[in-house]
Amino acid sequence: MTEIRGLRKIEPYVAGSQPKEDNIIKLNTNENAYGPSPKVSQALEAFDAHSLRKYSTLDQAALRHVLAENLQVPADQIIIGNGSDDILSMAFLAFFNSEEPVLFPDLTYGFYKVWADLYRINYHEMPLNENFEIETADYFADNGGIVLTNPNAPTGIYKPLDEIEAIVKANQDVVVIIDEAYINFGGQTALPLLQKYDNVFITRTFSKDAALAGLRVGYGIGSPKLMAVINAVKNSINPYNVNSIAECLATAAVEDWAYYEETCQKIMTTRDWFSSALQELDFSVLPSATNFILVEPNGVSAEELFNHLQAQKIYVRYFPKVDRIKNKLRISIGTQEEMERVLSAIKEIL
Ligand SMILES: *Cc1c(COP(=O)(O)O)cnc(C)c1O
Repeated sequence: MTEIRGLRKIEPYVAGSQPKEDNIIKLNTNENAYGPSPKVSQALEAFDAHSLRKYSTLDQAALRHVLAENLQVPADQIIIGNGSDDILSMAFLAFFNSEEPVLFPDLTYGFYKVWADLYRINYHEMPLNENFEIETADYFADNGGIVLTNPNAPTGIYKPLDEIEAIVKANQDVVVIIDEAYINFGGQTALPLLQKYDNVFITRTFSKDAALAGLRVGYGIGSPKLMAVINAVKNSINPYNVNSIAECLATAAVEDWAYYEETCQKIMTTRDWFSSALQELDFSVLPSATNFILVEPNGVSAEELFNHLQAQKIYVRYFPKVDRIKNKLRISIGTQEEMERVLSAIKEIL
């Protein structure tokens, strides 16, 4: 066979599995067990399928308008995407074009490395310290941009805003992306930094707090200078990147944000209860400000516990190939009832 020239070799991102069985407790991809607001279901029922004959909006003005009000930022400083993965991918293309390496932690959202490789962006992974925290001083090194998830994943650890600001302040000649996928589970947002710094770009998603992972909506917020560039990238790839149904339902979700404040609060309460219960079993649990915990079991290996839980149709995330966390499991926080069942299943194997 003739070899085909020009084919790209890539190491893709490996997403958490989506098992299809019934009656499972799915705690492997940080989805939200409470589901979306009832207003989202109503908006879906009322949606006119005939309107789909037309292209979706180019600027998602309605969704940006309700978000602007909810977040107290100007609507023209918001860009909507097909999930925050879409926004982040465009941000890498838009903002990281120097020779110097883009910096991000060695343990963080696994997709950053994949985009950097895909777009041939030079990068350095900065090791988290022995407590799995981001070391502020590491980000004072020369760089071509910075990406931080705050709170970080898969650790769950929140970095205080004054430390984030110190990094932004010391790097005003490059873009600092703050991925706030989990910010509504107990952290303080970096949005106020937008008033002082032109180089911050914040990304958010409807997948975790708003329980709309399958809808694929995320957004970015940044200065007019950054918006001009990322909008140009969007219009160079897929101008209609957000479908009409997604825009309509995400708008309904923002309009009922009180519902989400309540469900996020429930998840945080369950998370703190579940973490304490595991600590009583001498498991080591990293302090989480997210809807998941990273935990090292005691008296049983991560692998054994993973297999034991899976046999009971409880799916959690296990990272056997990531050396620093190969003895840990990442467990998404479901409903209180689900987590009580998970705790019983854990006690069973001990
Ligand atoms: C889930 C997640 C995303 C992706 O969100 P989508 O909007 O579903 O694409 C991005 N960053 C982090 C840190 C996440 O955990």
